[in-house]
Amino acid sequence: MRDLSLQLLDWYDVHARAMPWRVPPDARKAGTLPNPYAVWMSEVMLQQTTVAAVREYHNKFMSLWPTVQELAAAEDADVMAAWAGLGYYARARNLLKCARAVVDNHDGIFPQNYETLLTLPGIGPYTAAAISSIAFDLPETVVDGNVERVMARLYDIHHPLPGSKPALTEKARALTPAKRPGDYAQAVMDLGATICTPKSPACGICPWRDPCDARIAGTAAELPKKTPKKKTPTRFGIAYVVRRSDGAWLLETRPESGLLGGMLGWPGSEWGDAPDPAPPIDADWQTLNEEARHTFTHFHLRLTIMTAAVGMDASPARGEFVNKADFRPTALPTAMRKVFDLAGPTLRDS
Ligand code: SF4
Repeated sequence: MRDLSLQLLDWYDVHARAMPWRVPPDARKAGTLPNPYAVWMSEVMLQQTTVAAVREYHNKFMSLWPTVQELAAAEDADVMAAWAGLGYYARARNLLKCARAVVDNHDGIFPQNYETLLTLPGIGPYTAAAISSIAFDLPETVVDGNVERVMARLYDIHHPLPGSKPALTEKARALTPAKRPGDYAQAVMDLGATICTPKSPACGICPWRDPCDARIAGTAAELPKKTPKKKTPTRFGIAYVVRRSDGAWLLETRPESGLLGGMLGWPGSEWGDAPDPAPPIDADWQTLNEEARHTFTHFHLRLTIMTAAVGMDASPARGEFVNKADFRPTALPTAMRKVFDLAGPTLRDS
């Protein structure tokens, strides 16, 4: 086992990918420690996003807010604006929450153990293990998609993911060395990203080509096996239907990017597991008993509908009132039309 990790570390010493948040193996061996703040930021950004996309954002954030104290003191809107384009915006909100928790509860110093890291906002088991290993050189087992693929091939494991995850994690744990665990974790990730790639693994130049069971069996390209996705996920949202006393409806054009981009719709919340309320106007809101349901390609949407009747002096924070004569429900995308079908009859002409 130990030989395997040493073989990989030898390869990493020569082939480590350069990354803004990474200390190269030579410098690390000479005693340079990574900046935990930079490592943490990279790991949050890398959730759901590729290294290539993260580089630019990481550089931008580090230059705007070089320390966790400066990030914790930043305006929310500035951080969200800097994050724009990276997607999955809950991560940006958690980034701020976590920076503030580190400053408020840990004297501005990132906790140096897995369990305490896990208590911070936006840090799950994977991210806690990655920070422990990469920033603090603790022998935690870091298992991402790259590592799962490499382990499945190295040991020719045909049991499909996600059921095989515990077995693959166990293999990865057994290989994690006591010395240089941080470099080792990054080495497996680099191997998976550059050589043991999903479609065409470059076994001929792989440091593990001799011991690799899947290469010997000729099964590398078909691993890891995956159980077909079973259930379409469900997302939740809130749609706000506002009618003015002259019969006008409050509508807004959805952002160009994203689902229903550029379409007219009801102002609403984000769609996710537990959306934050985002009413477009101060009003006496009523919640309908029925929700609007719609299925998109990759998920089911369930929209809670909130309605309000407002006076002529109402001033919405977003959207525009569309005169009764100009409003055409048929111009709405189906999901928004379903909302109207339920809410419309409850907001009669006054
Ligand atoms: S020999 Fe091929 S399949 Fe095995 S770990 Fe290396 S690249 Fe992956």
